[in-house]
Formats: sequence, C-alpha cells, structure tokens
Amino acid sequence: MGAERAIEFGRRSLASINPATEELLREYEQHTDHAVERKLQLAQDCFSSLRKLGFAKRASMMLRAAEILEKEKQTFGRLMTQEMGKTLASAIQEAEKCAFGCRYYAENAERFLAEEPAQTNATRSFVRYQPLGPVLAVMPWNFPFWQVFRFAAPALMAGNVGLLKHASNVPQCALAIEEIFRNAGFPEGAFQTLLIDSKRVPAIITDSRIAAVTLTGSVGAGSSVAETAGKQIKKTVLELGGSDPFIVMPSANLEKAIETAVQARIINNGQSCIAAKRFIVDRRIAGEFDKKFVEKMKSLKVGDPMDPSTHVGPLATEDGLKTLEAQVKETVQMGARVLLGGKRLNRKGYFFEPTVLGDIPAGSPVWEDELFGPVASLFRCDGMEDAIRIANGTKFGLGASAWTNDEGEREMFINEIQSGLAFINAMVASDPRIPFGGVKQSGYGRELSYHGIREFVNVKSVAIYEVKENRSGTK
Ligand code: NAP
Repeated sequence: MGAERAIEFGRRSLASINPATEELLREYEQHTDHAVERKLQLAQDCFSSLRKLGFAKRASMMLRAAEILEKEKQTFGRLMTQEMGKTLASAIQEAEKCAFGCRYYAENAERFLAEEPAQTNATRSFVRYQPLGPVLAVMPWNFPFWQVFRFAAPALMAGNVGLLKHASNVPQCALAIEEIFRNAGFPEGAFQTLLIDSKRVPAIITDSRIAAVTLTGSVGAGSSVAETAGKQIKKTVLELGGSDPFIVMPSANLEKAIETAVQARIINNGQSCIAAKRFIVDRRIAGEFDKKFVEKMKSLKVGDPMDPSTHVGPLATEDGLKTLEAQVKETVQMGARVLLGGKRLNRKGYFFEPTVLGDIPAGSPVWEDELFGPVASLFRCDGMEDAIRIANGTKFGLGASAWTNDEGEREMFINEIQSGLAFINAMVASDPRIPFGGVKQSGYGRELSYHGIREFVNVKSVAIYEVKENRSGTK
C-alpha cells in the first residue's frame, strides 16, 4: 500500500467543472495502478465469456441499454450540459441518439457479422468474423455520450469488451456510461471506465491484454496513440479533427443554405469535428450570403446552456477558450477582417462571441488549423472547381457539404472532394446507418454501419478440404 501511494503521489485528480459557471462540481482521484491492473484482468476474463454468449443474449442487453438511455435522457442530458456546456436540448437529443445506436447494432450485428461463404478450390470455404478481445477507447468530451456509444455498441455486440479512457474533464459522464452497461445486464468487466489521464495511456496500450485501440480526438493525440500501438502491432482506428468546408453555389436555395450554415457552425457551441468551419461561397452570391450570414450569427443568444432559449453555450474548457482566442487574435494580426465578434465574453464562464472572419490570410491559424468554437471563416471562389481547390487545401479530410442544384457540380464535388463524408444541400451529420470517418489527417478506419463493427474483428478465412480416409493405410 505504501509503495502504491508512492507511485500515485503527484498524479493530478480529474476535475469536473461546469464551464458555464467555472464551479468545481466534483473531483476524482485517478485509479491507482493496482486498480487499473484489476480492471485489465477483469476485461480479459470477461472477454472469454462475452464472446461465447451469442448475439441474441448480447442484443437483449444492448436493447436494455437503449431503454435506460431513453428513460433517463433528462438526467443524462443535464449531466452532459453541466459537465461540458452543450445546450440541454442537444444533450437530451444526444442521449436519444445513443439509444438509436444501441438498437441499430442490437438488431443488425448478427447480420453484419454473419459467416460469408466463398468459392475456392476447397470443398467448403467461408469467412468467419470473430471478436478480438479488450479494446481501449480513448474518447473526447465534445459528444461525451455519443462518441462512447458509437464505439461501444458495435464493439460489445461483436463480442469484444471495452475499456474507456474518457477525456479528463468528463469523469461523471464516463462513470454514468459504465453504469448504464452494468444496469443493462452486461457481465462485470464488459465495459469499464478507467479514471486516468492521458500520460498513462501508452502503458495500457502496451499491455498484452489490450487487443486494439480506438481514439477520437486531436491529431496530436491520434499520432501519439498510433505510434505506441504501431510498435505493438495493434490495430487502431483514428477519428481526428476536421476543418469542414461548406460550399455554396448560385443554383442553391440561398435562404436555406444560410440558415443551415449558421446551425452547422454553432452546433455543440462550435465544438464538433464535423461542424462546418470554412464557408466557401461563389463570388456571384457572396455579398448577399456574407451579409445575411453575419446578421444571423449576430442574432444568436449566448448564455446559460440550461436555458431553452440559448443558442450558444460556453466552450467546454478554459484551455479550449484560450486556444481559440489565440488563434483568432493571431489571424486578425496577420490581416483577417473581423465581420462579427472576435473575443471572449466579459463574464464568468468560458464564453466566446459568435464570430465571423473574412479575408483569411494563407498560413494563418484559421487557414491551417481546426477552430473549436463558434468562429466562422468566409472564403470566396469562382465556381465549383475553384471551391473544391480551396476546400482541399488543408491537412484535414473529414466532412464536406456543398449547396448546389446543378447535377454537374454535384458530381464534381462528390468525385473530387477529399473527405470521408460528402453531403449535398444538408449539413454533415453522423448516422449509425452510414460509415463515419476521414481521410488525410482526419484519421483512418470507420465507425458506424457494418464498416464500424468490422473494424475490431478477426476476419478469419476458413477452407475445409474433404480428404477421404485412407482405408488401405499402413500399420
Ligand atoms: P484531445 O485533447 O486529443 O483529447 C481526446 C482524448 O485523447 C482525451 O481522452 C485525451 O485525454 C486523450 N489524449 C490527449 N492527448 C493524448 C496523448 N498524447 N496520448 C493519449 N491520449 C491522449 O481532443 P479534445 O480536445 O478532447 O477533442 C477535440 C478533438 O477531437 C478535435 O480535434 C475534434 O475534431 C476531434 N473529434 C473528432 C471526431 C471524429 O469523429 N473525427 C469526433 C469528435 C471530436 P485527456 O483529456 O486526459 O487529455
């Protein structure tokens, strides 16, 4: 015990802070090394039984998890809002979406992982999908329930077990999710939360009981996790950042495009990987777009995320606020034009004004990086080809939205845009029924749909040859 205390000395606790008030809600000691060891062993032990349970049994537990999410969506919604600042209505919707995801995999996992017959020289050959084992999920705070469920629902339905290392600022959400799976009847160890900071992630990836890793987060975190996992030859799925373009052409319904553009930028207080961040508008309509877009951004109500009339709540963390402030400041110093906002609000809480920037200088933070907050940047283009050239000019390739009613422009956009998701006349959204993921530095691998459930399985090729018994055999 003395030795363990010595090891733990100096580890920072995990603080749950309400970003709207800066009030410390709760503080958690990190799990000790001893506790983590027990959880890893429990995960491995549980895997041997969970994989044999069969789809029907796992599906009944997953459906129960969906029921819990729906029944207690108000409680879970309030928890998310208090801990990371999203508006209450969107938090409740998030709990509902998790229930939908659980149902989707409960109903479809068996079909997605059904044996596939193959034609070879063997008498019989087929592909069988088998779970890999304990999967470590390193998750972000921005959709504190949905990000976890969209990993956990397919992983557990496939027969894997999950270990969650959630973002350090949402420990209450992490523990609530663990409890949902426990109350849904999943065996002890099927889904566990590790209360640890990111410095302890490499040791866990390296542990021989961990079969694979999935990370949703920043490029830096993804690169670091992939490096450690790569050395261990362990599979990774990376869902990283984005700087999604939102292209508007003259044939579009401009009113609808502007209305959606505002929603697409401020969703989750501007902190979504697939929020539209760069608005690339054809020069022929740019004047009208810019004017109306700025007006609508200006009319947004910023404030208490618990208040139903609020459109934009606070950023989730003080660090996030400082980063955004610095990115905007530097870009403006480099010559960008401030059309609206541009600074943090002079009040308690991590609030940033809805902001619109124009004339973005190449090489500035707004041009190069992801902006996690309610800051929109406006670009002008000459036609779809030019728009795609600007859109593709970043290191990211997650989502992209184009507004056009021209068939040729649509085809060009679908073919040429470098992204994992391409939506036309709509804002990009995740949906369990279609795969989700990116290209370039937005990551690799896919979540959701049947692609997602097949990421963490062994695709086993089986070939059976019937070789007649040799009855004249020798003694
Ligand atoms: P983050 O700082 O990368 O953190 C994400 C998770 O990774 C947290 O659990 C964090 O733990 C952990 N982490 C950070 N650095 C690590 C390291 N070096 N090694 C191991 N783990 C590490 O990202 P964030 O600020 O929370 O989330 C925002 C980012 O996530 C944005 O870039 C956003 O675009 C991206 N995102 C992507 C998707 C997608 O599907 N593509 C979805 C949502 C968000 P600690 O909290 O303890 O540091």
